[in-house]
Amino acid sequence: MSADSPPLRTEQPPFTGRTTKEWQAADAAHFLHPFTDHQALATKGVRVITRGEGVYVWDSDGQRILDAMSGLWCVNVGYGQEALIEAATQQMRTLPYYNAFFQTTTPAATALAERLAARTPAQFRHVFFCGSGSEANDTVIRLVRRYWDVMGQAQRKVIVSRLNAYHGSTMAAASLGGMAAMHAQGDLPIPGIVHIDQPHYWAHREGAAKDLGREEFGLLAAHWLEEKILAIGADKVAAFIGEPVQGAGGVIVPPSTYWPEIQRICDRHGILLVSDEVVCGFGRTGRWWGCEAFGSKPDLITFAKGVTSGYVPLGGVMVGERMARVLIEQGGEFEHGYTYSGHPVACAVGLANLDVIERQDLVTRVREDTGPYLAQQLAQLMEHPMVGEVQSCGLMAAVQLCRNVPLREAFAPEIAIGMVCRKHCFDNGLVMRAVGDRMIVAPPLVITRAQIDEMFGLVRQALDRTHAEAHAAGWLAR
Ligand SMILES: *Cc1c(COP(=O)(O)O)cnc(C)c1O
Repeated sequence: MSADSPPLRTEQPPFTGRTTKEWQAADAAHFLHPFTDHQALATKGVRVITRGEGVYVWDSDGQRILDAMSGLWCVNVGYGQEALIEAATQQMRTLPYYNAFFQTTTPAATALAERLAARTPAQFRHVFFCGSGSEANDTVIRLVRRYWDVMGQAQRKVIVSRLNAYHGSTMAAASLGGMAAMHAQGDLPIPGIVHIDQPHYWAHREGAAKDLGREEFGLLAAHWLEEKILAIGADKVAAFIGEPVQGAGGVIVPPSTYWPEIQRICDRHGILLVSDEVVCGFGRTGRWWGCEAFGSKPDLITFAKGVTSGYVPLGGVMVGERMARVLIEQGGEFEHGYTYSGHPVACAVGLANLDVIERQDLVTRVREDTGPYLAQQLAQLMEHPMVGEVQSCGLMAAVQLCRNVPLREAFAPEIAIGMVCRKHCFDNGLVMRAVGDRMIVAPPLVITRAQIDEMFGLVRQALDRTHAEAHAAGWLAR
């Protein structure tokens, strides 16, 4: 705004004073969106989401949308949970902010640390708070390297991650991630981070996994880690990091053999294991933690998203006792921290969020009721002529689209069939995400069976419309 332009109206929630077109114009003029082609969005016009309730959101035209992505994998307790709203309001009124740097804390931060220590696997008693998943994974790099320094093995610096992993978007977190498009912008990865291939059975169907069963392939994929460790020299490798189930990579559920074998390899070479639970944590898989669902015993767990159900930003790193004891007793000051480490409003919301998850027994419900029900509905999609594979774990699921199912043949990449399908979803009142040709869902953990039925009704409609469009355009196999 230039000095002589009139002052903008002061607006407050619920922001009902402007039309969709007005919001779109203001947005195109000023808001650079994350992971967005700005020019393409400005041409099309942004969708303005104005409110939410339960598993639904509404846009500025009044359309109700079933949010099968929980916002961005985070709104696990659904929209409009009074307990979280109340906790934030009370904490803001009492003490909206205080830091934890100079030998101070707030009751909210300490209480959440205590609560998380009780809710995580037995090896965890300490937490380092930050503001997001990216910051949590940056913190991992600093913690891991500091630990090996203190241990007198400063040469152990290399962190092994995986292609198509997502660990966040800061320089370090994007480097840990294995997203080629991200690495291509900004000279990433930074030094000291290397990648092995992912345990993605479908993606390797014509290559490494050809003629192997899923479980055999899981062992093979785990051994890629050992090959990499031996190539680098085990005494130079600091840690391995992975998501129990790759989320943004397309809900890649690993074979059950994979994580136990990864654990054995890390143990054999004395390498730290980091479980990025930003998506999998807090019940998404039907266990509190993905590492519990898949059988690993990590030294570090990173979390964010589901810790507050996305109501306010919060992230953190659970630090296992093997590392915590060394850092506390021999490490002296750890030169790292964020202004918002242990933000009291975020921590108060985190506590209220844990209350809701526990009171409603959401983790058990996902494991024993809604998760299996979703899997059952999902399996029926295999009858669809365009579905090559379905995969799920708890309340996260993937539907692999393909051009020729018997031949497992992919659509030409320039068709971007996932984006075609996603558009039909949105037009139908469903948020489903496309990762290449893989459609994914991760609905709020409070979703009911009836709402799962509704979701699959919308998914089927979107698949049918995508199929009709593909047929008309001649994209399908003859
Ligand atoms: C979203 C995500 C992150 C990054 O979290 P931000 O809060 O966006 O920085 C890290 N790891 C995984 C697995 C994620 O899904």
